[in-house]
Amino acid sequence: MDIFLLGTGTAIPIKQHSPAGLVVIADRMRLLFDIGPGTLGRLEQAGISYDQIDRLFLTHFHPDHTLDLATLLLVFNHAPGASRTRPFTITSCFGIEDFLQRMYQLYPDLSPMEYEMRVHQVRQDEFSIGKIKILSAPTGHTPDSVAYRLEVAGHSMVYSGDAAPHGELAQLAEGADLLICECSFPSGWETEDHLNADSVSRIASQAGVKSLVITHCYPPALAVDLIGQIRGHYSGEVQLAIDGLHLSLS
Ligand SMILES: [Zn+2]
Ligand SMILES: [Zn+2]
Repeated sequence: MDIFLLGTGTAIPIKQHSPAGLVVIADRMRLLFDIGPGTLGRLEQAGISYDQIDRLFLTHFHPDHTLDLATLLLVFNHAPGASRTRPFTITSCFGIEDFLQRMYQLYPDLSPMEYEMRVHQVRQDEFSIGKIKILSAPTGHTPDSVAYRLEVAGHSMVYSGDAAPHGELAQLAEGADLLICECSFPSGWETEDHLNADSVSRIASQAGVKSLVITHCYPPALAVDLIGQIRGHYSGEVQLAIDGLHLSLS
């Protein structure tokens, strides 16, 4: 399983920390998780064309995780001589049908022209795509937001999306090889809808994950020794993600 972190930040423009997006290559499939502004360009820089994406997974609908979906659907309809004809599937938290309908109302050009749009809504679910087993669980960041766990060939990774301290991320990440986890704020900066270094440290420790990659940091989190703070409760490997980071589980 290969993972390319395309965007490792929030909506706030910060060098090397663009809005959310990552691609997983496993079982000869390319799965895109979140599609914040600029994701399509960074996907191209990672050597993957937009039309090679086999499925999109959305954690929630905030703009820093979804804005380039408008670009993707525009390109599907209007790439000269290359408009999409094969079906496209979005696995998402609940609300995707309504989200797409509103997007089509705002931008009529995005309504699928020559292909079928398929949507698959998840909350606490388990399903397979080829040899990849996928689990989802609510994260409490929004009423419907979810995190995803992928298991293939004896390896496992979890992507948190955005998460609240009271969500079910620790259970989902139990024993995972890799947890890619949002860490919006430094220790002591408490909010009800995001994690800080202390809550990330406790979740990673409780789940017993082998390694931890930190993403989605706001400027106050990047201004401190965030890794040092996370090592407070968690003794496994930890690193701060930057755009373009390539991880491999094999
Ligand atoms: Zn976010
Ligand atoms: Zn969010």
